[in-house]
Amino acid sequence: MSHLATGEPLSVQEVTVSFSGSAVLQGATVLVPEGGFTGIIGPNGSGKSTLLRSIARLLAPDGGAIVIGDDDIARLPRRELARRLALVEQNVTTDIDLTALQVVLLGRIPHQSAWQGSSEVDRAIALHHLEKVGMADKADRSWHRLSGGEQQRVQLARAFAQEPTVLALDEPTNHLDIAHALQLLATVQHIGLTVVAALHDLNLAAMFCDHLMVLHEGRVMSSGAPEEVLTPELLRAVYGVEASVEPNPITGRVAISFYPPTVSH
Ligand code: ADP
Ligand code: MG
Repeated sequence: MSHLATGEPLSVQEVTVSFSGSAVLQGATVLVPEGGFTGIIGPNGSGKSTLLRSIARLLAPDGGAIVIGDDDIARLPRRELARRLALVEQNVTTDIDLTALQVVLLGRIPHQSAWQGSSEVDRAIALHHLEKVGMADKADRSWHRLSGGEQQRVQLARAFAQEPTVLALDEPTNHLDIAHALQLLATVQHIGLTVVAALHDLNLAAMFCDHLMVLHEGRVMSSGAPEEVLTPELLRAVYGVEASVEPNPITGRVAISFYPPTVSH
């Protein structure tokens, strides 16, 4: 079961999405090289989840294209797309009563033939990935009895079990404590897959991503290495906050210090 993970390049080309006539994404373009880790940042409502849902073909853009390797995803059979791309959504809910292990086994479905069901190999793969996210001891726990952070880690294990080439993560650390957040990002940074993740915490994005893309009102405001993108000017323009940005002497990565907003009385 020594699966060597490899990525494929992901190219988002001029993607436009509208809901009831109003544009939520306007010509979003981003290229994630094979094995790269790109963070999508931007304020609430800027279009991050919409972009990730388009990348996973959960919604069809009004214009533009999403290409994995050499293939436009619009033309891929659903099953093949699921073998090449896994998405962990921002909030995953289910009405079905499954155990943690059964949730991870859902990731094996694109690799199974319809009549076959889960094999012993599938179970071993699922358990391996539960272990990787530190959840092996809760394999038989009901999904509904896991904490938000535990559910998030199980969803990540489900995505790993899918053995995709592209991993799309929507705010994967929002329920995690800092130790688990650092652990998760370090894991995906070194996993060898092409990773695109919407990230809320700009300092974590700066620490782990090799490329950042800033969405603001559905447009790409800036894109590049964290130290190029995360400037006080950009933070002021996009988030309306005051901050200073300095390289951390130990990590060499830029770190942001925020200043409190001026409170008027
Ligand atoms: P983010 O993830 O950056 O917070 P989203 O992509 O979730 O932003 O949302 C972008 C905008 O699109 C928001 O204004 C949101 O209200 C709107 N939106 C998202 N999904 C839908 C939908 N299914 N129908 C209508 N509007 C939507
Ligand atoms: Mg979102």
